[in-house]
Amino acid sequence: MYRDTDCNSLRKIDIGKQVTLAGWVHVTRDHGGVIFIDLRDREGLTQVVFRPEENAELAREAHSLRSEDVIEVSGRVAARLPGTENANLATGDIEIIPSRLRILNRADTLPFPIDAEPQNEDLRMTHRYFDLRRPRLARNLRVRHRVTKATRDYLDGQGYIEVETPVLSKSTPEGARDFLVPSRIMPGKFYALPQAPQQYKQLLMVAGVEKYFQIAKCFRDEDLRADRQPEFTQIDIEASFVTPDDIFSVTEGMLAAIFKAARNIEIKTPFDRLTYREAVGRFGSDKPDRRFRIELVDLSDDFRASGFKVFRSAIDAGGVVKAINAKGFAGITIGQADELTEIAKLYGAKGLAFIKIENGEWKSPIVKFFSEAEKTALQSKLRIEEGDCIFFGADKWEVACEVLGRIRLRVAEIQSLHRKAAKGQSGPPVGRTRPVASSDWDFLWVTDFPLFEWSPEENKWNAMHHPFTRPKVEDMPLFEAKKFSEIRAEAYDVVLNGVEIGGGSMRIYEPELQEKMFEALGISPEDRQSQFGHLLRALRLGAPPHGGIAFGLDRLVMLIAGEQSIREVIAFPKNNRSMDLMSSSPANVDPRQLRDLGIKLAEEKK
Ligand code: ASP
Repeated sequence: MYRDTDCNSLRKIDIGKQVTLAGWVHVTRDHGGVIFIDLRDREGLTQVVFRPEENAELAREAHSLRSEDVIEVSGRVAARLPGTENANLATGDIEIIPSRLRILNRADTLPFPIDAEPQNEDLRMTHRYFDLRRPRLARNLRVRHRVTKATRDYLDGQGYIEVETPVLSKSTPEGARDFLVPSRIMPGKFYALPQAPQQYKQLLMVAGVEKYFQIAKCFRDEDLRADRQPEFTQIDIEASFVTPDDIFSVTEGMLAAIFKAARNIEIKTPFDRLTYREAVGRFGSDKPDRRFRIELVDLSDDFRASGFKVFRSAIDAGGVVKAINAKGFAGITIGQADELTEIAKLYGAKGLAFIKIENGEWKSPIVKFFSEAEKTALQSKLRIEEGDCIFFGADKWEVACEVLGRIRLRVAEIQSLHRKAAKGQSGPPVGRTRPVASSDWDFLWVTDFPLFEWSPEENKWNAMHHPFTRPKVEDMPLFEAKKFSEIRAEAYDVVLNGVEIGGGSMRIYEPELQEKMFEALGISPEDRQSQFGHLLRALRLGAPPHGGIAFGLDRLVMLIAGEQSIREVIAFPKNNRSMDLMSSSPANVDPRQLRDLGIKLAEEKK
């Protein structure tokens, strides 16, 4: 036996007990020959004090200990000297007076000190097994475990069963590039790693499973933008004979159980619901962060006959005029105004018109074009006050909403930096970290997404969610009439504080409708057979109505753990070039392995 107590257990009532602890030397301090050691295991820290006058031999041995050596210590639990207790430590009232020390292993020179936050992420990733010893990351792994355990327990309680689906599978059209795995036995043929178990879970519904879930690994070969990983984890759910309301209530219950288990947080259910049109129209985003009160106001009716050409022509062309009121923004600097204008242009606007309200005056070159009635409408709809700044978007609905949605987020970010600065805190670097304006957890369903989106690059319609999502029943006539831009899907997302954490849909279960959907997506009858023949055949053998949802587990755990990156909640993540720096993968392979697979590398271009 290496130990009988962990490093976070001993309290005053244990004084006098004989114990054995094992763990890592967290820090050592030498106070004039007396060696203090903070011994660490995954539970916490306990102080061990080697005093030469008590045991000269042991003290001499302890002198050789360095950070991260692995030791076993037996001794007596004693009270700390009055005045030396540490209220920040659970074991801060006691210390161990050792009678035996066993050095189990020595640590080499450390890649970085374990008790500081290392700045160099590559260094952390190269020594990830060491990095993970840090209490924050150790805690994150546990939060993740709590989340998956609560998920399994809750869904099990609701009658869902976990079914594993293949990792060596066939390409699914989830929109990203597949990772391919060559077949040795059938040279020239490839498996694909699943982007999501979408088809398998639908086939499980045809198989009569009725209630399925899986904590599933998914793989997407993308150029890693922002905070993505080539392999990630989903909580994947599918059920038969359900409506969207059934899926909403099971996932609300699951999220409540997760938050309770992981952080003892009571979340409010049921979640509010907004349609896609409402979300984008009011917040300029299909994943609105409603912790910021600012909303987009529609002014199209007020400017329909405007003398201001820019607004009028946007409306004449079938577009809209919208605005937001940025409270207290009349004092924005030229630099900030330029930055916001750049954002507007990036998302498709020609520029960014705004009015500052200063000293009772509306300051902007565009005000002179407005009629009194237009000014009155602006005044009342936007509740304009001294110090405000009004930003306008006049464009196609999608563009005006998106542009103002982006401006809205940036304004909120700048406002929260101001608030922090006013409180004397230094804010995060501008533009990098999202603000947390309130500690509330704002959950929201966004429903009724468009079924299709137009791809100008491919010059065709794509499925906005995926090709198995069904149109809303009310919009079936639009589907028959091929009015693709107007059809709404029975699809929904869950949004938490402006982050999409999950999404799903009701599926097509009628083979004829699925064929029509493939046709609308420009998939030829031959491709339909070769890619989806198994699914179409399954739908012909008594497929029940079904639907489901999937959650990004990494992102969910990140939010629950209060982290800024999913890499902090994944044990062994890849870096932004999809590399595992620890094991140096991807790596070259033995030419023999390639020969076995019938693979020849193309000559590198000189
Ligand atoms: N398979 C979908 C996805 O990964 C989720 C779903 O429709 O259930 O986004």
